[in-house]
Amino acid sequence: MTVQPTYDFLIVGAGLYGAVFAREMTNAGKRCLVVDKRSHIAGNAYSKNQDGIEVHVYGPHIFHTNDKAIWDYVNQFAEFIPYHHRVNVTYKGESYSFPINLKTLQQVFGVNTEEEAKVLLEKLRTPTNEKDLESWVIGQVGQELYEIFVKGYTQKQWGRDPKNLPNSIIKRIPIRTNHNENYFDDRYQGIPRGGYTKLVANMLHGIDVQLETDYLEKKNDLSKLASQILFTGPIDAYFDYQLGALEYRGLRFETSKIEKPKFQATAAVNYTELEVPYTRIVEHQQFEPKGLNHTIITKEYPLEWTKGKEPYYPINDDKNKILYNAYRKLAEKETNVIFGGRLGEYKYYDMHQVIAASLKTSREIIKESSK
Ligand SMILES: Cc1cc2nc3c(=O)[nH]c(=O)nc-3n(C[C@H](O)[C@H](O)[C@H](O)COP(=O)(O)OP(=O)(O)OC[C@H]3O[C@@H](n4cnc5c(N)ncnc54)[C@H](O)[C@@H]3O)c2cc1C
Repeated sequence: MTVQPTYDFLIVGAGLYGAVFAREMTNAGKRCLVVDKRSHIAGNAYSKNQDGIEVHVYGPHIFHTNDKAIWDYVNQFAEFIPYHHRVNVTYKGESYSFPINLKTLQQVFGVNTEEEAKVLLEKLRTPTNEKDLESWVIGQVGQELYEIFVKGYTQKQWGRDPKNLPNSIIKRIPIRTNHNENYFDDRYQGIPRGGYTKLVANMLHGIDVQLETDYLEKKNDLSKLASQILFTGPIDAYFDYQLGALEYRGLRFETSKIEKPKFQATAAVNYTELEVPYTRIVEHQQFEPKGLNHTIITKEYPLEWTKGKEPYYPINDDKNKILYNAYRKLAEKETNVIFGGRLGEYKYYDMHQVIAASLKTSREIIKESSK
């Protein structure tokens, strides 16, 4: 006698991709079990309360999107505090406004008006067909701005000379000639009140979740529990690295409590000199100010990544793209496994993008199964 699986879907990973998928499938009447190897839900968006402050444990997470449907979707699960992300840069003891805007150009070059800034940028521009990051940025803004804002920071962040990195890494950062100091241009921006973990817990309401469960360690037993699997862990780990390991950039976080209400002017301050070992300091209470007498900061140190360490940023160079495509071909042969999310698709996804991708996949499956 064949035993029927208990669940329709086994969802590996309680991050945003897995949680959205679980919610949609459950709403469609499917039975879901979510497992995560970590001791908490919410994946890399995980936040936890420390001394009354919601700390973004795997780096600061700001929700931003231009897509009203995605904004309405997340607002079902949390109340969002209006928040517009601002970042300062510290370089050789000087503080600058960032992304580059009129205030920055005033500080560096002494220009005063939008017109002067436009003329200046035009003079600095020497566009190039070179595809490397260094040549591209110098071609856009000149040597001086490159040195202050990009060179050391990029070298630290990626552990590679900017001459050997693709310009695609930096193309999304705006260069403005007006006073707009916002980091993101998106129409909808905010931080979920009470943190991302609460948001994801609301998404997973009523759904079975098993933490501290590594799917790859119990693959045979867990797979029997469901007819289909969504895997949001690393695609190369799923295939036991048989074609080699995809590369990531790692991070180390150093968090400390400081006995004063505020530590720095903006929630994030980037340290762009190569000589300072961390890339930024994040002050968590600025995301959800509560007027406390203490504050909590995190210094973020980029790390060389090795297999087994927490993977953060995929290295989207040609070598890794080719390897990912080879894994993708293996994935297509797995009949009852769907791969999704930043690790399953080896893709730098922002939260709104990962939610959109998960909604698309889950809704296509629901549509297909209702035929
Ligand atoms: C430093 C940093 C800052 C960021 N800041 C922002 C920001 O400001 N705004 C924004 O929109 N986005 C930001 N992001 C991106 C955001 O974190 C991702 O879009 C989002 O977390 C991706 O969700 P996911 O579900 O795909 O992956 P994840 O959140 O990584 O979830 C995958 C889950 O799968 C689990 N898992 C893996 N393997 C297994 C296994 N074998 N068995 C069981 N479980 C497993 C993992 O433990 C993890 O919990 C940032 C990312 C980083 C690294």
